[in-house]
Amino acid sequence: MSDCLFCKIAAGDIPSGKVYEDDDVYAFKDIHPKAPTHVLVIPRQHIATLADCHDPALLGTLMDRARMIADDILQLAAGYRIVINVRDGGGQEVFHLHVHILGSKKLPF
Ligand code: AMP
Ligand code: ZN
Repeated sequence: MSDCLFCKIAAGDIPSGKVYEDDDVYAFKDIHPKAPTHVLVIPRQHIATLADCHDPALLGTLMDRARMIADDILQLAAGYRIVINVRDGGGQEVFHLHVHILGSKKLPF
């Protein structure tokens, strides 16, 4: 999608703090971190929101990469939180599906 912020970030058209990329996903540092470590993982394919996604393989890949990035790249051995905000009521502000990885401090729930 030509007018999507996260599509532009994944394409390298807007700078980002890249953490990881492959053919399926792109991961980068959140610009307004809500925890000492805050990384976003997005599918390269534009999907507006989790509620629009009916592709178990894509969702499986996205979650598997989030786990790998948290454990192997960010090395959040003490633990971390995975968050997906869905639509306005769920706090979603950017309408390109993304997984938040939050860690490096004890997170209240
Ligand atoms: P959400 O509220 O779930 O849609 O999360 C969107 C996230 O994207 C927020 O945590 C923002 O801080 C983050 N964000 C917005 N613009 C950028 C950007 N240009 N680079 C990195 N993160 C961004
Ligand atoms: Zn997009």
